[in-house]
Amino acid sequence: MLAKFLVECLDCGHQEIYMPLSTQCPNCGSQWREARYDLRSLGVTLPELIASRPLDMWRYRELLPINEFNPSLSMGEGGTPLIHAANFGMMLGCPHIYIKDERRGPTNSFKDRQAALGIAAMKEAGITEAVIASTGNVAIAYSAHAARAGIKLWAFLTSLVPPEKMREVAIYGTQVVKVTASYDQVKKVAAEFARQRNLYMEAGARTIPSVESMKTIAYEIAEQLTDLLGPDSKRMNGNNSKLPWRVPDWYFQSVSGGLGPLGVQKGFAELRAMDLTYEIPGMAIIQAEGCAPMVSAWEQDLQIAEPIAAPQTHITTLATGDPGRTYTLLYQRMKATGKGIFKKVSDEDTFRTIHVLAKMEGISVEPAAAVAFAGLIRLVRAGMIKPEELIVINCTGHTMPVEKMVLGDGWARSVDVAFPNQSETPQEGLVAALSRMSDDRFPRILIVDDHPDARRLIRRILQAQGNYSILEAGSGKEAIQISQREIPDLIILDLMMPEMDGFSVLDSLKVNPDTESIPVIVVTAKELTPKELERLQGQIHALMQKGEFMNDEFIEEINELIK
Ligand SMILES: [Zn+2]
Repeated sequence: MLAKFLVECLDCGHQEIYMPLSTQCPNCGSQWREARYDLRSLGVTLPELIASRPLDMWRYRELLPINEFNPSLSMGEGGTPLIHAANFGMMLGCPHIYIKDERRGPTNSFKDRQAALGIAAMKEAGITEAVIASTGNVAIAYSAHAARAGIKLWAFLTSLVPPEKMREVAIYGTQVVKVTASYDQVKKVAAEFARQRNLYMEAGARTIPSVESMKTIAYEIAEQLTDLLGPDSKRMNGNNSKLPWRVPDWYFQSVSGGLGPLGVQKGFAELRAMDLTYEIPGMAIIQAEGCAPMVSAWEQDLQIAEPIAAPQTHITTLATGDPGRTYTLLYQRMKATGKGIFKKVSDEDTFRTIHVLAKMEGISVEPAAAVAFAGLIRLVRAGMIKPEELIVINCTGHTMPVEKMVLGDGWARSVDVAFPNQSETPQEGLVAALSRMSDDRFPRILIVDDHPDARRLIRRILQAQGNYSILEAGSGKEAIQISQREIPDLIILDLMMPEMDGFSVLDSLKVNPDTESIPVIVVTAKELTPKELERLQGQIHALMQKGEFMNDEFIEEINELIK
């Protein structure tokens, strides 16, 4: 089968087939790569392909890095409304402002697109455990989608992230690690943790699905503008076609790391290359004043942004001090199209804008999203946006407040890392801190079952009900090895397994003084014979029928046994 796309190295041009676990160019080692599609032929087939599909991000699946669309993972990401901001526009004297309402995603931010596609790609690659670092919304989005897909997630958050956002991450069962450090340092800590444990790490703009997911915002905007306003009238050649699609003159977004605009820009560029549109919109990228390394670099016409060591903004969601190469790529692409701008706004202006938007349009947003609107106001007042121009602005995110008492205590671990100076890479102290950070503050439960699906089901039920550290064994022999090594607080044991069955596991546990007193709950799919029941007599603490797991007694039983 021919690959529908290839991954191209941005440094040496080497092309290869996409494999999620391969995170760098095999030719030069660069981590900066992008997906390349056969845009010429897709431009011909796409309008017909998507015509009968629902309006969500998966309608563009031919332009996304997955082999197969898996509807069971989707919660209907994308397909968010494009709303005319008539009142806000009247206030500014710009009648053509449209709001792309990304609050309507499953976790209320545009990061849902990134998480949905990232998790779908992980699932295809058979990845079962992953690490992310986040300023908040990415972790929330990934947590929801990981929970749905049954992927274990570790989220590293800076301790500056508001507690209600952290609790929202935790409620999905993600292992929250609170790091007392800046966001840029947190990323290094998370990367080191992933390296030590050999886990997959989501790396923002260097992760192919992350950039690709953001393109769908551009595709949707073009389709929606065309539906609302008709095809690009400046370029129409008179025949009654729905082409070319219309694009805005400007696309506004507030940024932290810059991944969003990078992907959206690629989306608009691909539409142009597919000949579905005639122009690539200008990108207007807005940062918070206390953390605006991209704006500073842009104003000095520099290709590389000088990192901000200590961001000074209340809007922690946007506090990426070191945008790295993402800025450089944005700089180059915006220069190439000849239209684009970086601008900063103060926290005060942002907070005022939240009120303006809510009162004028009925749209309430979090500060991170309001930054883009404050930027638009500033650029219009400075005369840099013309009244007749067509503007689309990305409006994301509201946090669902998770009440404190819902989670109880102990849902986060903390890592305090002393960084001697800002640029330093975490060293020995960190390695020690990370290796100490095991699950051992939670009761440890070993699940023994030869069917991976059965183990996964029990794991998910347990993790949904409380904080447990879960160990898994796929055979009787492995169960004995893990029990002797880890001495779990409880064993959940399947009876029918090939080679060494549950009865033999019990016998071996009982002859070893280290393991003889570990409580055991036996789970069985079939009715046991009187003889079998006799064998279990006095050996186990409870007998459960498969399918009984969902009841409260099972969890009560467990909590009783591990007290
Ligand atoms: Zn390369």
